[in-house]
Order: sequence, then structure tokens, then C-alpha cells
Amino acid sequence: MATARTTTSSGVDEWAAANPRSRALHEEAQRVLPSGITHDVRRFDPFPLTIVRAEGSRKWDADGHELVCYVMGHGSLLFGHSHPPVVEAIREQAGLAFHPGGGHALERAWAEQVVSLVPCAERVRFTSSGTEATMLGLQIARAATGRHRVVKFQGHFHGWHDYVDFGVDPPWDRPSTPGIPPGVAATVTVLPPDLAAVEEALAPGDVAAVILEPAGGASGMIPLPPGFLAGLREATRAAGTLLFFDEVVTGFRWAPGGVQEHQGVTPDLTSLAKILAGGLPGGAICGRADVIDVLAFREPGAAKVSHPGTHNAHPLSAAAGTTTLRLAADGHAQDRASATAAALRDGFNETFARHGIEGMAYGERTMFMLLFGVSGDPLQIDPVRLKGSTYGPLYSPLHCAMLLEGVQLFHGCGLVSAVHTDDDVERTLTAFDRSLSRLQDEGMLG
Ligand code: PMP
Repeated sequence: MATARTTTSSGVDEWAAANPRSRALHEEAQRVLPSGITHDVRRFDPFPLTIVRAEGSRKWDADGHELVCYVMGHGSLLFGHSHPPVVEAIREQAGLAFHPGGGHALERAWAEQVVSLVPCAERVRFTSSGTEATMLGLQIARAATGRHRVVKFQGHFHGWHDYVDFGVDPPWDRPSTPGIPPGVAATVTVLPPDLAAVEEALAPGDVAAVILEPAGGASGMIPLPPGFLAGLREATRAAGTLLFFDEVVTGFRWAPGGVQEHQGVTPDLTSLAKILAGGLPGGAICGRADVIDVLAFREPGAAKVSHPGTHNAHPLSAAAGTTTLRLAADGHAQDRASATAAALRDGFNETFARHGIEGMAYGERTMFMLLFGVSGDPLQIDPVRLKGSTYGPLYSPLHCAMLLEGVQLFHGCGLVSAVHTDDDVERTLTAFDRSLSRLQDEGMLG
């Protein structure tokens, strides 16, 4: 079996030549936006795409190419782009009020849906993003326990605030960004997903919360060992530490109640975003009433976690979110999307085998991850390799080849929606077949 080699690919130049408008728009954007982008993962070599319209499973770029989309609003679009009932709900609310400056009926309905769907949710507080949700959740955990330390895991992503920006990419033992005060860093411990290591870290009794992506790091790219969630549940309970699932990606995606429903392990706290707000900005922290209620106003002078936020439970996000959660509540959409993702994973693996290329597609439920140069049980593969495979020398050649065939991957991965069709699957697998041939012909894969 051959492994990846470093060379350049004609596909990159061909793709650049086919996208002059995106290139020009990117050059203009660089004058006012650092690197011409607004989210670090939208960086792309030779330049990022500009998208002008999107509908269902498809999107159209500034040069008029139609693409099957596997970015799906960074995972926020379970029903695809501009799903008509969601558009209608947003339109209706826009005519009523953008920001009533007070409570509104949709925020209560939205919270009730979260409580009815997410097993741990007894109380809910809305935020404007997933990052805000994990930030607030950790502050709540500290306030509720009177402890300061937090345990997180290698490769797990929880947004970009100071308390979680550690060990997201290898090397795991340092902050992922400059600018984090040493005092903050001293409160965060980054561990491998190993129960013995967790028990040792919890032993002094000063850990407020253990936070993790419950389907594994990077939305399941780095899977967790079997039984790990149940083991964590026991270990945290024994240590008086709160178990905090970050279900920003997996919430309403793995199942209507997220990984905690799917795996039958109930945490104390859960952060949500993405599908929660139906593709508009929004997040939430939910969990045990006695924990979340540190946000509540009680007798005068009693300590309370403060939480303002101009756009908390924004009515337009609430309109999109309540409509999306209503459609997602019976689990059919998640099962449909998961069946489509399984067909894609099978097809990718069959294509790897037919080309004699070492690599694999893996992932759970609605996700697929493409891995080059290594195959087998992902639990047996070094997490550094799992995280790094698609960012290596193949990154731009593979993505440009797929774009030339009309498919947009998301960093070697894909988030599959309930509206991806058999035609999308066929188009994607044909694109992958042709892309592998191109890379093989150019000596990139042997
Ligand atoms: N947690 C996880 C698991 C995420 O994947 C993300 C974003 N991709 C976040 C938190 C942060 O959410 P947001 O981008 O809404 O701030």
C-alpha cells in the first residue's frame, strides 16, 4: 500500500484559474480583514472561496460553480441551507421584532424544547455562541463547586476563550494561542482520554469540572475508548466534580438529545449551539437545576453568577431554533443523515481499496472523516496522526480536486444533513474517485 508523498498538484492551479472572482474578492478582503477571512478554519490555499448563495445540500460560489456542501454551516444546518420552514419562521419574526428588549414567547418555547430533548437539561440559559456557552458553563461550575481547576482533553475543542484554548492541536501540552495569562493556564489540566489519568487529576478534590466533546475530540475525529463516558460519570461523581459535555456539534445531531441520549450517560452540564439555533447565531448552557440556578437572583447580597449579553436568545435565532428543533425532535432527520453518511463512508472506503491507496473514511452518525496514509481502528491510531492527516501536503490538492468536481469538503471531513440526496452521494463518490486518480497520476499517492 502506498502512502502520501509531498509534491504539488495541477488541480490547485486549475482550481485557482477557474475561480478568478473568488480570488479578486479575497484580495480586496485582505485590505480590511486579517488574512481576508473571518474564521480561522475558513483559511484555504491558494485562496478561500466566496459563496454567494446556498440552498438545501448545495451552494454556489462567486464564479458560478455549484457545489455539494459538507460544511453545512460548520454543522449548524441539519436540514440544509435555507430550509423553507426555517426561512419562513425567521421572516415572520423579523416582521414582529428583532429585539424586544424584554422577554419573548419564543425564548420560553425554545428552552422548553431543550428541556424536553436533552436528558441533563432542567434549566437553560441562552448565549450568542458556543464559545460563550462553554465560558459561562465553566464559570457556573466554578461558582457552584467553589473550585477553580478544570480538566479538558487533548484535541478537544470548546471555542476560543482563555479557559479552553489549550491542547487543541498537537503539541498537546501548551496553550493553542499566545495571550493566555499564566494564572489562567495554571487552572487548566489537559489530559489524554485515560480514566486512570483523570482519577489522579481529580484526587486532590479541587477540580470544578471535566469538560469534553462526548463523541471524541474534534467532533469525533479522535474517538474515545469504549466505556470512557460511563467511567467519567462515576469518577466525577465520586470526586464532587461536575461532568460537562460540550454538545455544541453533537447536540440534536447524534440523536435529538445528543450523545448523552445516544450513549445513555447524563452529565451535569451541557453546552449547545449550532443546530440549537437553526443556522443563526446562538448557544446555550443547560443542566441540573441546582447547578444552573447559580444564575438566578436570590436573596439580596447572595452570590450570583452574572450573565448579561445583548443578543441572548435573539428572537430571530429563537425562531430558526424552535422551528429546527420541532423538525428534529422525532429523530428521523438524524437517522436519515446518518444513513447517508454511512453510505458515503462505505463508498469512500471502497474507492480507497479500488485505487490501492492506504487510507480510510471513518466517523460516527452524520460525520465522515477522511484519513490518508494510515488505516485500521482509529482508537489504535496516534491521535496526532488522526488530527494531522488531512492538514498535510495533500490538503489543498485534495480539496481543490474535489472542488473542481463540484464537492466542498470541510477540512477532510464532512457534516451530512438530512437533505443530502442519493444524487449527492453519487456525485461525491464520483468526485472522490476522480480526485484520487488525479492525485495518483501526479505521483502524490503512489
Ligand atoms: N465547542 C465545540 C465542540 C465546537 O465544535 C465549537 C465550534 N466549532 C465550539 C464549542 C464553539 O462554538 P462557536 O463557534 O459557536 O463559538
